[in-house]
Amino acid sequence: MNEKRAIAFAPCIAALALVARCAAAACSIALPESPTAEERAAAADLQDALRRMGSGDVQIVAESAACAPALFVGATRRAAAATNEAGVAAWRPDEVFLASVPEGVVLAGNPVRGVTYAVETYLEDFCGVRWWTSTESFYPRLPSPPVKGISMRHAPPFIFRETYYRDALDAEFKVRLKQNFASRTSVMNAEQHDIPPERGGSFRFPIFKGRKSAYHTFFVFVPPAVHFKDHPEWFGLVKGKREALQLCLTNKEMEDEFVASLKRTLAGDPGASFVQVSQMDQPGWCECADCTAVMERYGGLPSGLMIDFVNRVAARIEPEFPNVTLDTFAYQYTRRPPTGITVRSNVVVRLCTSGCAYNLPLAEHPGNKTFLEDLDGWAKAAPGRLFAWDYVTDFMSYIHPHPNWRAMPANIRLFADAGAVGAFLQGDILCPVGEFVGLRLWLQAHLLWNPRADDRALLDEYLRGYYGKGAAVHLREYIDLMTAAVADPKIRMSMYHEFSPWITKETSDKASAAMARAVAAAEAEGPEFARRARRERLTTEHLALANWSKYGDGSKSERQRRVVEWVRSVKEAGVQNLREFDGMRCEDYLRAMIFAGMAVAQEEPVFSGDVSRLSPNDSLGLTRIVGTNDFARIEMSGGGKGNPGACLATTVAIAAGDWLRVRARQTSRRGHMPFYVKTGRKTVCGNTYFIGPRFPRDMKWVETYVKAPEDVPAGGELRIFMQKPLWDWTIEIKSIDRVVFSSPVPVDI
Ligand SMILES: [Zn+2]
Repeated sequence: MNEKRAIAFAPCIAALALVARCAAAACSIALPESPTAEERAAAADLQDALRRMGSGDVQIVAESAACAPALFVGATRRAAAATNEAGVAAWRPDEVFLASVPEGVVLAGNPVRGVTYAVETYLEDFCGVRWWTSTESFYPRLPSPPVKGISMRHAPPFIFRETYYRDALDAEFKVRLKQNFASRTSVMNAEQHDIPPERGGSFRFPIFKGRKSAYHTFFVFVPPAVHFKDHPEWFGLVKGKREALQLCLTNKEMEDEFVASLKRTLAGDPGASFVQVSQMDQPGWCECADCTAVMERYGGLPSGLMIDFVNRVAARIEPEFPNVTLDTFAYQYTRRPPTGITVRSNVVVRLCTSGCAYNLPLAEHPGNKTFLEDLDGWAKAAPGRLFAWDYVTDFMSYIHPHPNWRAMPANIRLFADAGAVGAFLQGDILCPVGEFVGLRLWLQAHLLWNPRADDRALLDEYLRGYYGKGAAVHLREYIDLMTAAVADPKIRMSMYHEFSPWITKETSDKASAAMARAVAAAEAEGPEFARRARRERLTTEHLALANWSKYGDGSKSERQRRVVEWVRSVKEAGVQNLREFDGMRCEDYLRAMIFAGMAVAQEEPVFSGDVSRLSPNDSLGLTRIVGTNDFARIEMSGGGKGNPGACLATTVAIAAGDWLRVRARQTSRRGHMPFYVKTGRKTVCGNTYFIGPRFPRDMKWVETYVKAPEDVPAGGELRIFMQKPLWDWTIEIKSIDRVVFSSPVPVDI
């Protein structure tokens, strides 16, 4: 042991000539004489890493007691000399500075986070440490920490960085990924842990009591439940009527209440550095004369009205809360940028890519042309205050191929080049096992830190390091196959797809074969690699199962067996929800998949054609049933959460445990609405069963199987409704049949 230590410290002994007063043969971590909490934490982290790498028990000492070669952490005198020499006048946000000096190496940076990141950059880029996930890392054997040939100065273009994945909720891993923003929404499925101050802390929104989401906040500050009755004029005038959909942004009384409410929130939560002042997640902007006049002033767009309001609120809160930034959306009806107005210095605008195609980079897909115009406009309207919001997964099915491998890095660069100062990448927040979920998170984090990094090299590095060298080749083949499958610009891959019509059987078979080779290669390299590769195979298996009839892959019983096996594996991997869209649980998916493939033995028509057998159940009159003898046509107007009662459409009597087959099609182009079983006022995801992604946009008839829960009361109803109607929506129902299946279904897993 002692001999090993002596060998390990040989370079230190050799370097003693440089700092002759040192007697002991030991490297040191040198801190400033009065270190900050962050410097102490960074030094402790470095010490721990050196121990793991076999670099010995390196002591943390004050700079004056350091031996060469020393690792100078934070604002040491040696760092000051080196930064002076390098001409560093002032630190940019999160900036790191690493430099070899005759006495060792300087690891310094912005006192907030920069020092933490400098140590991490040293460990990652110069020592070869890798933090693959929150629980899986790699520390190489490194008897003597490198001190020569190090020179790096870097500040990330995105000052605010967040990737929205389950694993990134872990505070320490977030620090490893150099992420510094923490959003909360209602669908996280796990606790968000704040980064402690000594590790740099995080930017965050206020925590609203009883509400997990920090977004879409108009009604948080001016709730319609409290104010609509007495002040309908505070809410948007829509088609001549005041509706609790959005706020009337020129109503001064409303603004006063809004500001007072916002100030109360900020005063009660001093840790909040950002607060959303943003539209509800639905249409319904105010069309009153005053609001229309403001819109006209700024290009005739609702975004002008929004920025005008947010700027005013920002001006009013600034004196009391100078360090709080207001955060608003360019989203849906506000995505088109205004003209003749720029956002205030204490406001950022989150421009969302919703509705774009994701198979190609935003700048390459012809379908994204208007988005590029919007980006350009917002870069001008929000200079230095633009915040990107990109969607980086398949919200219909996390464990399904979502080949945005080219788009993901290119879009990060696009936003950086447009001058965006923040980025939020919305990924697989509900699920720890999406397609290459760890790789995606790691890759995105590295690109947000440095958008110019070589994404292909990073990808290959992760594949080799995390799955093993043998498997990496085949996994890369899988990724390339999928990427090639969506290369045609005529393909428009949205963020909601479950069947991937662009993936042919031939590609699917090749992908499955590549995955099988990857698993075999990983098994040869060790059980850890094998476990990780097997988890990725769930994706190709899902692809095959979801397209079973299309690919003509074999018998129904074979499919059922594999579906059960697949769901079992998914559950073992810790998955609760398979998608964000509706939080589909594994068990529900299993039932749906199995029933979709089973022969129907008996059918009993509950409803077919004749509209007189359906009745709207809709207090606001937003639903019309106008069908023919062959099918019922149900038309629904946009409504929303703020408009209770708008969502119910029609009802059919059912009994507990009934299985119903619904033949229907959507005839409106927008909306993604499935059938829901609803037994009371509240819809519970667990009581929701449906098959298929949603109604296809090609207007084909589809079959959907719905099961009534066992607790449905006598005289219960199947209600066909929109969970959160954003747009006008029309479906046609041909028939609803009560069905019995030919064999028992193994629904227990
Ligand atoms: Zn108005």
